Amino acid sequence: MTERLTIAIQKSGRLSKESLALLNACGVKFSINEARLIAHSTSHPIDLLRVRDDDIPGLVMDGVVDLGLVGENVLEEVRLEREAVGDAAEYKPLRPLEFGGCRLSIAVPRETPFEKLSDLNGKRIASTYPYLLQRYLKDNGVSAKNVNLTGSVEVAPRAGLADAICDLVSTGATLEANGLVEKEVIFRSQAQLIQSNEPLSPEKQAMIDQLLPRIDGVQLAKE
Ligand code: ATP
Ligand code: ZN
Repeated sequence: MTERLTIAIQKSGRLSKESLALLNACGVKFSINEARLIAHSTSHPIDLLRVRDDDIPGLVMDGVVDLGLVGENVLEEVRLEREAVGDAAEYKPLRPLEFGGCRLSIAVPRETPFEKLSDLNGKRIASTYPYLLQRYLKDNGVSAKNVNLTGSVEVAPRAGLADAICDLVSTGATLEANGLVEKEVIFRSQAQLIQSNEPLSPEKQAMIDQLLPRIDGVQLAKE
């Protein structure tokens, strides 16, 4: 029996369409049943695992799947978190992907005076990225308190839960709509293709070796 290569992608969200389109452009075809977690390729011995993006780094780091397509923001946050608690946090970066571009930024309410990062000393910052945020603050000698939320970060200041936020920004429209002003970019991100550190069978490695130049070709053609 041929071993099947497993690839984790985001089930539904900002990375889903382009992740599938990239594989498709590489000749790896899928017919997706929305209700299913797994999709078998109709062209290759490859299975897709469609999960929440937050689960992708851990699945790769634990060797549960062979490859993953995920935003560097989530990847680095999960890596820091797993490192902190002593879980396996290794992976092989294979290729930066030309989608999912965004930045993780600190923003404050329009009326809040803000001149420099140290103005945040002693303040509360709402974020879904506590590890990336604390690393940045620490590197810059600032001490602020994390208010950890899993969503609706942008309404936290108005709700009196925090003095500032740290959230993903692409156009800035969401910040604007919530009366917030972007002050400091702490992390720039795009999607990335990563591989598990577990040793792979020669068949699986051969499939990856065949996939990578195709990805390069597809990305070059788009430039
Ligand atoms: P899931 O249900 O899979 O957890 P989600 O709500 O966490 O979904 P999305 O909003 O779909 O995630 O974003 C997925 C990824 O897309 C982000 O982690 C980031 O890498 C990228 N991204 C690109 N632009 C943006 C943006 N403007 N806001 C948020 N994420 C963005
Ligand atoms: Zn998510």
